[in-house]
This record gives sequence, structure tokens and C-alpha cells, in this order.
Amino acid sequence: MSEMDSALTDKNVLVHYMKLPLPDDKVQCEYIWIDGTGQGIRSKCRTLDFEPTDPKDCPIWNYDGSSTYQATGSDSDMYLHPVAIFRDPFRPGKNKLVLCEAYKYNNIPAETNKRHSCKRTMEKAKEEHPWFGIEQEYTLLDRSNHPFGWPKNGFPGPQGPYYCGIGVTGAFGRDVVEAHYRACLYAGIKIAGCNAEVMPSQWEFQVGPCEGIDIGDQLWVARYILNRVAEDFGIGVSYDAKPITGDWNGAGAHTNYSTKSMREPGGMKAIDEAIQKLSKHHDRHIKAYDPNEGKDNMRRLTGLHETSSIENFSAGVANRKASIRIPQQVFEDGMGYFEDRRPASNCDPYAVTEAIVVTTLLEK
Ligand code: ADP
Ligand code: MN
Ligand code: MN
Ligand code: MN
Repeated sequence: MSEMDSALTDKNVLVHYMKLPLPDDKVQCEYIWIDGTGQGIRSKCRTLDFEPTDPKDCPIWNYDGSSTYQATGSDSDMYLHPVAIFRDPFRPGKNKLVLCEAYKYNNIPAETNKRHSCKRTMEKAKEEHPWFGIEQEYTLLDRSNHPFGWPKNGFPGPQGPYYCGIGVTGAFGRDVVEAHYRACLYAGIKIAGCNAEVMPSQWEFQVGPCEGIDIGDQLWVARYILNRVAEDFGIGVSYDAKPITGDWNGAGAHTNYSTKSMREPGGMKAIDEAIQKLSKHHDRHIKAYDPNEGKDNMRRLTGLHETSSIENFSAGVANRKASIRIPQQVFEDGMGYFEDRRPASNCDPYAVTEAIVVTTLLEK
């Protein structure tokens, strides 16, 4: 047993307390928000004496921004504005997960509150009903931040058998993936699928298609649920874009996108026009596609391991080495959607989807 294993508790003991009958008029609400790193998720719980059915039913709350990299000690009070609610898979029954936007003491959105401006952008574009489906890749870690199931002082066999792999040498940590999928369905997340990835102990789940602001809300809560499920198993989650250097795939958040025009017969014309516009704003998108304005993606978008180069924009049918991929089926149908393969796994989906809508719908 390593030193850190002393933090593990026997989950069977908890079962008794989770089964205690609670008063009918008490509901536990876990408020969730994004911290000052733009990628870390925080949460804290409060009791309400009714069951909220709309985020507006949940009171505005506050927290200490000086402990989340979001404020100095002197003006440290920050506000939580509830914006979406989900069923809580960790505390079944009436209990809720409450996603919040973070505001500073003076009611200005926190720097990492990208939702505030994304919401306005989605509002402006609502006639085109923008849909998004995001493929969230991530890597499971053991308690010493080493990829889960990898040999302690070495590497597993080279990539090849792991993508959609099965078996004791092919899939590391499936229990987490399985539990997460069901917890998402319980919560009301529109989880679309999951698969094992190319690098061992790397996995993917997809959320969508969701319209407008909903994709960002759902993806952040799906990440929250993943971190909490993994915590229960004593396993860590990394959203780093390139967790292991060398001949190991990085992790992305491919963003699939369509508008009403693209989904209708002849939609290929709207798809081509959107890609044309994206080609002129590669830098804007790279800046928006990881929380460090391209620094994280620099390690990942090398042109190797099914990625495009970070330097240049490219697009192609069925091309996994391009910035934008048009799925073969979409090309054959002449309508549908396309995939932006550039967003890093630790991207903020609000920043990503806002950039896509601004470039493709709101600028001339
Ligand atoms: P890949 O072949 O790149 O691995 P996946 O099957 O993992 O693709 O993910 C495809 C994603 O595209 C899913 O999240 C799905 O919801 C989404 N999607 C499907 N149709 C559309 C559409 N018309 N507009 C936007 N997203 C869509
Ligand atoms: Mn996929
Ligand atoms: Mn993938
Ligand atoms: Mn993809």
C-alpha cells in the first residue's frame, strides 16, 4: 500500500447512510461551477426545503473566490447563478446537481465564465438552430498520476489493440466508463455513446446532438459526473491534451456541428460555406480551443497520431489528419454535419461553440 492509499475508505460502510430515510421536505442540491483554471470543476452542497424543477427555483449562492484562483483575499466573495439542473446520480431521489455561472463581487462574470457570452451568441444565432455533438476523450490515472493499469516502471505494448479494445490486456478501467454512462443517463445527460481509445487507459464518451448553450451545460456536468464516479473507484481523470509524450495518442474534444441549412437537402452548400469561413479564422479557433490559448494543443496537434498540424487549416472528406472532417456518409447524403477535430480534451465547450457560431453564422 502506498502512502496515498490511506485516503481510501470502505464504500460498503457508506451504503447504510445513503439508505437512511430523509425528511420529505429536504432536498440536497450540489452547486457546480468552473474554477479560475478554466478547466477545474468545484462543487458544494446546500439543503433546500422544496424540490426545484427549474434553475430559477434555486437561490443565488456564494463562495470564496480566493480559494479557487478567482479572486484576491480582499474582494473574495463570488456569486453562483444557477443555470441548469439535473438529477443527482450520487444521491438518488429528489436531489439535484445545479450547474452555475460564476460572477465576481461586482457582478461582472468571472474571467473563466465563458458561458455568459456564449449564451448571448447562441441567442443571436437561434434561427439557424445550431446543433453540437462533442466527443470527450480523457485518460484514467492511478493515485500517483500514472495512466491507470500501466506497468509501474515502463510502458504497455504499443498502440494497435486498444481502440474499441476488449479483454484484460486491452481495456483498462472499464468499470469507471460503465458507471459513468449509466450515471449520465440517470442525470438526464444526452450521452450518445462511448468507446475505448487508441492509447491504453484512454476513453471517450459523446454528448449530443444538443442545441445552442445546452451542449456546454451538458458536457460540463458530464465531466463533473466522470470525476466523481472515478473518485468513488479511487481513480483519477486527466483531460490533458497530450498526457504521455512520444508515440501515444493525445486527447481531443472533436466538435460535430450543423445548422438547419446544413441538415436540409442540399445542405452541402452551407457546409462548404462554413468551412470556407473557418479557413479564414484558424488562429481565432486555435486560441479558443484550449484554456491556454493554443499552448496545450501545441503538444497535441503535431500532424501525427490522427491530428492536423496546429499551423495550418485543412479540411477533407473522411480525413482524420485534417482540421475539419466531413464524414463519408454526410458527403454521400449531400447534407448533415461536419467535425472540427481541433478542440483539445480540456477545452471549454462554451468557448469552442461560441467561436464556431461567430465565425460561421454571425460574421459576413
Ligand atoms: P467519430 O466518427 O468522429 O468517432 P462519434 O460517433 O464519436 O464520431 O461522434 C459523433 C457525434 O456527432 C455524436 O456526439 C453525435 O451526437 C454528433 N452528431 C450527429 N449528428 C449531428 C448533427 N447533425 N449535428 C451535430 N452533431 C451531430
Ligand atoms: Mn468518436
Ligand atoms: Mn476519439
Ligand atoms: Mn471524432
